[in-house]
Formats: sequence, structure tokens, C-alpha cells
Amino acid sequence: MSTTADIIARCQALYEDLDFTAARAWKAAAPGRRVVGYLPVYIPLELIHAAGCLPLGLFGGGDQMEVIHGDAYYQSYICRIPRSTIELGVTKRLDFVDGMIFPFVCDVIRNLSGIWKMMFPQVWSKFFDTPQNFDRSIGGTYYTQELRELRQGLDTLTGRTIGDDDIRRSIGLYNENRRLVRQVYAFRAKQPWQAPTADVYLLMRAGLMMPVEEHNQMLAAYLAAAALDQRPKRDNVRVAIYGSFCEQPPLNLIKSIEMAGCYVVDDDYALVNRFLTEDVPVDGDPLEALSTAYLEISVETSCKYVPREEDKGKFHIAAVKQCGAEGVIYATPSFCDPALLDRPMICGRLKEAGIPHIAFKYAENSGQMQPIREQAGTFADSIKLWS
Ligand code: SF4
Repeated sequence: MSTTADIIARCQALYEDLDFTAARAWKAAAPGRRVVGYLPVYIPLELIHAAGCLPLGLFGGGDQMEVIHGDAYYQSYICRIPRSTIELGVTKRLDFVDGMIFPFVCDVIRNLSGIWKMMFPQVWSKFFDTPQNFDRSIGGTYYTQELRELRQGLDTLTGRTIGDDDIRRSIGLYNENRRLVRQVYAFRAKQPWQAPTADVYLLMRAGLMMPVEEHNQMLAAYLAAAALDQRPKRDNVRVAIYGSFCEQPPLNLIKSIEMAGCYVVDDDYALVNRFLTEDVPVDGDPLEALSTAYLEISVETSCKYVPREEDKGKFHIAAVKQCGAEGVIYATPSFCDPALLDRPMICGRLKEAGIPHIAFKYAENSGQMQPIREQAGTFADSIKLWS
């Protein structure tokens, strides 16, 4: 049986490999295989899987890659993920990727889709626009059509026809994945000392770079191994981290928060595999099932409109209560318009609910951890002393 150390070492190797050796090997293992890259925050991975392709989550270059060419394409006052994604492209690290999907998160990723089309015209690419209207007859009809177009694009890319049963089978596998992911999060919320946040983070990121069948086995193995680990329980406070759904903080920042005295019991890091909160039905029309799931059982996050102002932040407050967090750290990428526009509204609601919170900004290549440790440590102490 694998230990958690074995599993996490494999995840870390995948996370650090900006040449995507494992995805290249998957593609080379059989003729005709295709790899489809995608950016945060959410796309229906089920369709890519049903097309027989490997979905490859791309979250920029992190803090390991120097951005040289990418800066030339963007002004200084936007976030870093589009620049480092361009850098991955121009340095040929993505030269094996057959298709790219750019979901609607904000103007930056939408515009990146146009730049990608011009720079890499040989790569099939799609701007995938999700609805901001959550009425089944309006947003639902629109979104089902968008899913149909995505399906047709994948048919053309692969030269095969994706059947409804193929999609239903993929939905079943991703339902299992989401269930296991929820189990890992519930395990960590119950015994956070048994599942360090950096381990859980790496486990989730690895799943966005490998076939879902393999990730399901890995999650089950991790849950079995983590329950047997003997780790000391520290006098940490329980916090939830929100605002980090797109550009990711460096791994050292994630570790620093825990080292400063905080157990992270919930987060929205790289939301992809937790975007839908329940199973998607495997009967009926599979595109309508995915569409309705997006409208009705997806998380609240900054790239989704909340139609009624009084509902803003309710999702986060309910999540804080469910995971038993004693405070919230709202950590956002620098220049992230969606998250920074949300910040005063979400933090205002946390204040009304009497939930202690702090906020800071980061970039995927932030190098100075000491200020973050001091801020998170002081926050933890203030909760212990006064909450
Ligand atoms: S980090 Fe924020 S601003 Fe940048 S691409 Fe992502 S959602 Fe858009």
C-alpha cells in the first residue's frame, strides 16, 4: 500500500514539471491520442474525456519559471497567469497540446484566447463562454448550445463522434472524482493535522494533469493512507481561504500559512474539480444535465454573477460554518479584477456575520513569505486571544 509521502512525492513531481512529461508520455503511448489544455476556473472535463482526450489543467508557470517573452504581450497592471501561459507557449513547453479551451473567467483569459489563436493558429482553440443568467430557459438554453459547440469542436479535433453514452460514462467517472475530492476535504476539515494543506493542494493539482480514472485511484489510496498517518496535533486555528480560484499562490505561500499557526479547513484553490457540488445525473440528455448542474449546483465564485445583492456572500458564510473555520483569509492575485471587486462585498458579509477575516494579495511568483507569515500568524493569535 502506498504511503501519503509516496503519493504526494508523485504529485509534487507532476506539479513541478513544466515540460509536462507525464502528459507527453500519455499522448505518445497510443496513436491518435490528443491532449486538450484548459485554463481556470471551470470547464466540463466530461466532454474532453468522452472525446478520448486528456484534459490538461494549465495554471501558469508558478514561481519556477522566468517570464521573458510573456511580459511583452501585456501591460504591467494585470495579473501574471496570462503572461506565464504565453511564456509556456513560446518556449514550446506546450508544443504537444492539440487543443486549448479558455473559459470565461474575466476579460484577461477571454483576450488570451484571441492572442492564442493568432500565435498558434495550428492549435484548435475555443473561448468557452459560460452564462451569467441562471434561468434554465435562458442561461440554460444558451449554455446547452455552448456545450453542443464544444462537442462539435472536439469531434472535429479527434475525427470521431462523441456519443451520449460516452458522455454519460464520463459524467459517472467525474461524479466519483468529485465524491472522493469531497471526502478528502471533509477528512481534512475533521482532522486537519492529518492532511496538511500543501499535500491536499498537490493532490488536487495532480488530478488536473492525469486521467480521471487514475486520479480516482490516487484519491482513494490517499484517504486510506492518511487515516493511518501519525502526525502531531498542533494548537492551530482553523481558517478558510477564499479568493484564490484562478492564478495560484506559490506552494511556499500555501505552506507558510499553515506554518504561521493556521489549519486550512476549506479553500477555493484551483476550483476545477470542486466547481460542481453534487453528482450530475447520468440519465437523460447529458448536455442538459451538465448545463443544469452549472446553473444549479455550482459554487459561488467571483466569475459568476449573483443576481440578488442580498445573496452575495451567503455561500461563503455557509461554507465557513460547514467546515468549522474560525476565520477567513481572503487571498487574491494582484490585479485580479473579479476577486478584488468581490473582496469588499464578501468581507463586508463576513463582518456582519461576526467572522474574523484578513485579506492580502499575492502573485504566482511571490517570493517574500515573511510578511505573509507575520500577517497570518498575527491573525491566528488574535483569534486565539479574542474570538
Ligand atoms: S487571476 Fe483574476 S484577473 Fe487574472 S485571469 Fe484569473 S480571474 Fe482574470
